[in-house]
Amino acid sequence: MKFCNLASGSKGNCTIISSDHATLMIDDGLNIRDLMQRARSANIDLGAIDAILVTHEHSDHIKGIAPLVKKYSIPIYCHKESAYALDAYASPYVVERDMDLQFEIGDIQITPFRLPHDSNYNLGYKLSDGKRSVAIATDLGYMNESIMRSLAESDLIMLESNHDIDMLRQGSYPFLLKQRILGKNGHLSNDECAQTIAALAKYGTRHFVLAHLSQDNNTPELAFERVAKALENADLVEGKDVFVETALQYKSTDKIILD
Ligand SMILES: [Zn+2]
Ligand SMILES: [Zn+2]
Repeated sequence: MKFCNLASGSKGNCTIISSDHATLMIDDGLNIRDLMQRARSANIDLGAIDAILVTHEHSDHIKGIAPLVKKYSIPIYCHKESAYALDAYASPYVVERDMDLQFEIGDIQITPFRLPHDSNYNLGYKLSDGKRSVAIATDLGYMNESIMRSLAESDLIMLESNHDIDMLRQGSYPFLLKQRILGKNGHLSNDECAQTIAALAKYGTRHFVLAHLSQDNNTPELAFERVAKALENADLVEGKDVFVETALQYKSTDKIILD
């Protein structure tokens, strides 16, 4: 399987995951020009996308979908609780199905799982082609056993590392917004992400991608440092036992090939 994140953060998210016989996009919060430009540089053919999987209805995850499906007629898989927020142009492309259940597209088996967030509904996804697997969880207020189980034993996990708690507390955001982000339906902190990664690495995951970093309350260096430290405390070395990449808002990640 191949993984490439084209953008990650509150201004737009988009990830491409492909197997031998299927190419899936998770979320599209990019304007069509940026999307086309980044796809081209990453050597991704947007016309070859078999489906768009939506995590939730916040605009940084869906605002690019309507222009994209108008151009390429791609089926959209979106939970019914989130689908109301899609643009009228996108709605006819929504596939009617129970998004809480496992399903398949081409040779990829998709297992959705629920995440706590202040949207109507939010899904993480585990995708597997029978040989390798990738799991994605962003926009979640906290980690729990059930989410850990859904992520565990994937070959690559993209997990939210949204904010440094001190930066957020001391920063300029209004009190209510700080409470929202720190709350049970907000976003995952660097500390929680790092602890989770250290635990999941023990179950054999070798590739992690830190995602949805706040541009105001985090830095890629801080997020990475926290994970490297948590791995060190678990007797694992980043760059040797485990590889950690950071997904950014304005730049695609390298393509990660799991073979
Ligand atoms: Zn988001
Ligand atoms: Zn969100």
